[in-house]
Amino acid sequence: MHDTLMRTNALNAEMINWRHDFHQYPELGFQEYRTASVVAEQLRSFGLEVHEGIGKTGVVGVLKRGNGTKSIGLRADMDALAITEANEFAHKSRHDGQMHACGHDGHTAMLLGAAKYLAENGQFDGTVVFIFQPAEEHGKGALAMIEDGVFERFPVTAIYGIHNMPSLATGHFAIRSGPIMACEDNFEIVIHGKGSHAALPHLGIDPIVVGAEIVTSLQSIISRTLNPVDNGVISVTDFSVAATRNVIPEKVILRGDVRAFTPDIQARIESSMERIVSGICAAYGATYDFVYTREFVATINSEPEADIAVAVAREIVGDDGVYADCAPIMASEDFGFFLNHLPGCYVLLGNGGEGPGGCGLHSPHYDFNNEILTTGAAFWAQLVHDQLNPEAGDTASASV
Ligand SMILES: [Zn+2]
Ligand SMILES: [Zn+2]
Repeated sequence: MHDTLMRTNALNAEMINWRHDFHQYPELGFQEYRTASVVAEQLRSFGLEVHEGIGKTGVVGVLKRGNGTKSIGLRADMDALAITEANEFAHKSRHDGQMHACGHDGHTAMLLGAAKYLAENGQFDGTVVFIFQPAEEHGKGALAMIEDGVFERFPVTAIYGIHNMPSLATGHFAIRSGPIMACEDNFEIVIHGKGSHAALPHLGIDPIVVGAEIVTSLQSIISRTLNPVDNGVISVTDFSVAATRNVIPEKVILRGDVRAFTPDIQARIESSMERIVSGICAAYGATYDFVYTREFVATINSEPEADIAVAVAREIVGDDGVYADCAPIMASEDFGFFLNHLPGCYVLLGNGGEGPGGCGLHSPHYDFNNEILTTGAAFWAQLVHDQLNPEAGDTASASV
């Protein structure tokens, strides 16, 4: 077993306790008051300098060694989801309708474990900034911390994040340089027709027929407008009508979700959507309102930091446990906002391909796999040792 892995393993029971505690008391985005205060209290007990209330409920812990000027940011997310847990184990959620169904309880526990390990054993020269962010799920927490000046107050040269990944074997790593998670845009299209009797359609303008044609035609953007080697998804997820069986309604509302990897493709999808909506509505004599919003940016790993993450992961679990050029995922991640400001890398850590660990994120049956707490903490510790290595020669300071 790798040395760092063996030593972080000594904190395993403690990490499990923290994780189960967070799991029992999940909190939604920007309401992580209890979680943040437990995190802050623990960090203080390890001897870190602690700053609370950054980006509303975010917490930053700072651990400095030696005189080195290099600093790196390690990030965990703390928020839960508005899902009623279907599990029956002892650490089941005690907050009705709220649940850690995305494993942020595990991410927070893992980073606490790394902070404790590094405070007690860290042989490094420089500054580690532990970033516990709120409100990842709705893509608002990273920006809130950035706008609150987190990187002016705690400058870092690079930032790293870990997310667990069901369907990836327990403790394996998947990493890639370039886009790893997509952006998310949302849209709402209101089609205004003209209501009439169901038996007298010639007296109205049927927004359901217009809406049906729009839903079908929007898919042609992916297949006919984008370059086939580019990626994009358009999903109409809501087709709402205030319906009465024998009435052609006044209006239809379509809502949905778009994913892509680059601002250029986002812009092409947005303009193509409006062109199709406008053209089809005009053809039928209907009018429309079109609202398109950008919710998450794409998560794009920088190449040097992706290489660093791959090397660290290989040190921890060996070459066979690391996919160094994994396929990107069309889901989205708030960490992308951090990577818009700084170089860095977002790393996926296998929650388990088989058994409970393979249960999908955001499922009421999901649970973070305790077996990977040590792997994640060891990755964090090794990353700090490698990047803030007093012998690496990028500062003139003596080793600690
Ligand atoms: Zn998540
Ligand atoms: Zn999630």
